[in-house]
Amino acid sequence: MLLRTEILGLRAWLAKIGVPNIDPICTWGHSRQTLTHVMAFCPDTKDARLQLLTRGGTIHVRDLLRDKNKATIAEQWLLDTRLLDHLQTAIEVANTDTTNWQPFHMPRA
Ligand SMILES: [Zn+2]
Repeated sequence: MLLRTEILGLRAWLAKIGVPNIDPICTWGHSRQTLTHVMAFCPDTKDARLQLLTRGGTIHVRDLLRDKNKATIAEQWLLDTRLLDHLQTAIEVANTDTTNWQPFHMPRA
């Protein structure tokens, strides 16, 4: 499960694995954008947090991930926040194997 290991596109993780041009702070300048941060603390998800509380019954990561159904709810909630959307390209870049790439040569006209 992705959420359990936090192997997803949150900035703290992307910065840790060395994705270029990503620092671990959230849009509010909090030091680390982690799963716990977005679920329980970040103003970015202030309105969405109510949804999580309604659907999952809690905003505590540990409680959500302890229960399979709640973990699924939390995962869908995270996708719904669209926090991961703008990081998709960075993830693709990080996962691309460029070892066999060749410089591009323009054909002569
Ligand atoms: Zn924040």
